[in-house]
Amino acid sequence: MMTNSGALKNLLDLSVGEIEALGSKMGWPRYRAGQVLKWIYQNGVSSISEMTNLSKVDRDRLQAVATICRVPPSVPEVADDGTTKFLGLLDDGLAVETVMIPEGHRRTVCVSSQVGCTLDCGFCLTAQIGFRRNLAPREIVDQVWNARRLLGKDESISSLVFMGMGEPLLNFESLAEAIRRLTNVDWGMGFSPRRITVSTAGWVPRFQDLQQLGVNLAISLNATTTHQRHLLMPAINKRFDLMQLIEASRAYAKRSDRRLTFEYVLIARVNDSLDDAKRLIKLLNGIRCKVNLIPFNEYSGSPYQRPSQDTIDLFQQAVRKGGLDVYLRRSRGDDVLGACGQLGRMAAEAAHIVPTRLLRKVSAHAQP
Ligand code: SAH
Repeated sequence: MMTNSGALKNLLDLSVGEIEALGSKMGWPRYRAGQVLKWIYQNGVSSISEMTNLSKVDRDRLQAVATICRVPPSVPEVADDGTTKFLGLLDDGLAVETVMIPEGHRRTVCVSSQVGCTLDCGFCLTAQIGFRRNLAPREIVDQVWNARRLLGKDESISSLVFMGMGEPLLNFESLAEAIRRLTNVDWGMGFSPRRITVSTAGWVPRFQDLQQLGVNLAISLNATTTHQRHLLMPAINKRFDLMQLIEASRAYAKRSDRRLTFEYVLIARVNDSLDDAKRLIKLLNGIRCKVNLIPFNEYSGSPYQRPSQDTIDLFQQAVRKGGLDVYLRRSRGDDVLGACGQLGRMAAEAAHIVPTRLLRKVSAHAQP
């Protein structure tokens, strides 16, 4: 049977207000829009016909104007440590990566906010595919639904981290709408905002807006001098240099009842010296925070290397002696390129995107 699905609205593209408006156009009482939202966000249905507490007449009327199109996932890849990576296959042929990381009973889902990234952090694989586009709210939320479907009956997602592909604060409107759908307890997925962390390379103008959403903020610091940050993260550092970032972080921490997280990718001979450790202590002095050290995850074509375990341990000890609460993040899922900063290649391949910068590097090496 032919359906004119092009003319149908995808309910997942609509805000709460728009779904209510659609309902009132059909003469529905207000609570019925709430029933529809619950089917979508609490039960994860993929069709209107599954909304069984709506009368057949109401379902038919809704089906005449709307549909539900979810983002189909690829077949998941499972790493030796249980880390699971899958793609969301988007309508326009692009693809976006999501990673689920098991740790004991905990399940953390690492969510993407953009296809590619506008930033150019030299150590990050995602940066190399360039920027394709922002994700829509539904494309963000469906990553969580697709992850949830991989879980057993008695398992649940413990936390969500926006540390996948892209810079979440540069897609703020979609991020905020996705977080509303993820956290609403009446009709939404009911995640506590305390279990959600948004990671940023340092897009300062959105710090305050993010704070209002009640989620946690993580800042990818990665450097202890402006010059070093410029070498590692040129685009973002040009807009807001290290000192501006630290001041904005300090102000944020003062306003917040939650601890800030600073992430620091440790790269051999670039930012892993004891002088770096000393500068880090000084920079973060007085900010209520914790520091996550992420040893650089290597990938082919990257000029950078992971420091030795000794160097990593010494760095951590020095930072701890300086009074900071500092943790070492274990690398997870690197055999499926699911680790931090390794996202992108699979999505790029699926969507036939050529990671231009990577290719340039490879061909430069290939020249006689
Ligand atoms: N754009 C956001 C979120 C995505 S990156 C941000 O910059 O925070 C998530 C984390 O992975 C960041 O802390 C980033 O510094 C880190 N990262 C990127 N590439 C990495 C790599 N190759 N090895 C280890 N960590 C990396």
